[in-house]
Amino acid sequence: MLNTKTILVTGGAGFVGSHLCERLIGAGHDVICLDNFHTGSRDNILHLMDDHRFELLRHDVTVPLCAEIDEIYNLACPASPIHYQIDPVQTVRTNVHGAINMLDLAMRAHAKIFQASTSEVYGDPSVHPQVEGYFGNVNPVGPRACYDEGKRCAETLFFDYHRQYGVNIRVARIFNTYGPRMRPDDGRVVSNFIVQALRGEPITLYGSGLQTRSFCYVDDLVRGLMALMEAPDTVPLPCNLGNPAEFTMRQLAQLVLEITGSRSILIHRPLPQDDPTQRRPDITRAQEHLGWSPSVQLEEGLRRTIHYFDQILSGVQDRVPMKVAHLARLRSNGAARLEQAT
Ligand code: NAD
Ligand code: UDP
Repeated sequence: MLNTKTILVTGGAGFVGSHLCERLIGAGHDVICLDNFHTGSRDNILHLMDDHRFELLRHDVTVPLCAEIDEIYNLACPASPIHYQIDPVQTVRTNVHGAINMLDLAMRAHAKIFQASTSEVYGDPSVHPQVEGYFGNVNPVGPRACYDEGKRCAETLFFDYHRQYGVNIRVARIFNTYGPRMRPDDGRVVSNFIVQALRGEPITLYGSGLQTRSFCYVDDLVRGLMALMEAPDTVPLPCNLGNPAEFTMRQLAQLVLEITGSRSILIHRPLPQDDPTQRRPDITRAQEHLGWSPSVQLEEGLRRTIHYFDQILSGVQDRVPMKVAHLARLRSNGAARLEQAT
């Protein structure tokens, strides 16, 4: 029989959070979605608003909160470098004060609490692929530090609340995740390349384009988050969640061009400071203890994401020079091509 829980999802109106809310409601739980709409959007959760199991709470995690809940998924934090660097002090506050407030709430409510940590805790890694036992290589004073060190401090808080107060915690280190409901102006690489390709604009490769990332489709990730929350209390933590298939940014650009049939050219832009040169998760722990591994490979995930962006961009006529029919024509002409940057 289903054990219905009341579950708080902070950052629930964001990209990952909105998919998680949907899945939790689908599993029969009551969901309170907390968000300050910094990077999230009502559009992401509009389809859930009429569901009697869903409640929206406009709130900032840096402010303490009282609520009757059984579980907390703490996702509140901008995830895209351009967004988390706009107001770095607020990013640190969100990670550190937000973690303290949500951990205090978990302690008062005797709730289990999950933290959305990140592969960024490994910084520019010298161990490859990244295993959970690797302590990382993070610049504590660079422009990414507000996010990387904020997330590292949040992990520290989670483990200390567990050791000191017995709070029941779960911590996942999430690797680059993509899919529908990313914002067109999100700034992360998958959404940037897709939007640029669909608009026929140049694809912006930062640096040489030879740096690597491993991309996980959002449905796979959400399944992993829920599996970790439901795992026995003895599950080893933290736990990497991501897709170990590793690609250079140049390969990603090529794949996006092939699938969209776009004639966009590649141009180079300066590599942002402290941009990690390589990233790939070792997911042995998740495989062995959660029985989890990703099932959607990059090409299929990109097709679904491109379909999503094509639809939302088509809804705004003046922002969309390239429509589906045109794309199909290009594809059948065999027009996909990759131009070298100048
Ligand atoms: P996102 O920016 O789409 O979602 C973040 C959500 O948090 C937004 O809805 C935003 O409005 C909300 N938020 C931000 N600050 C807040 C605050 N102070 N109070 C309340 N709400 C606040 O990002 P995402 O990709 O959905 O990421 C979700 C979580 O997963 C983040 O914690 C992120 O660090 C983590 N993560 C994501 C990825 C990824 O590739 N998507 C990788 C590693 C970690
Ligand atoms: N990147 C790029 N072009 C873009 C956006 C990003 O080449 O338009 C690169 C970026 O320099 C990084 C990789 O893609 O090497 C992933 O960047 P993203 O911001 O998506 O995530 P993160 O760096 O946090 O992994």
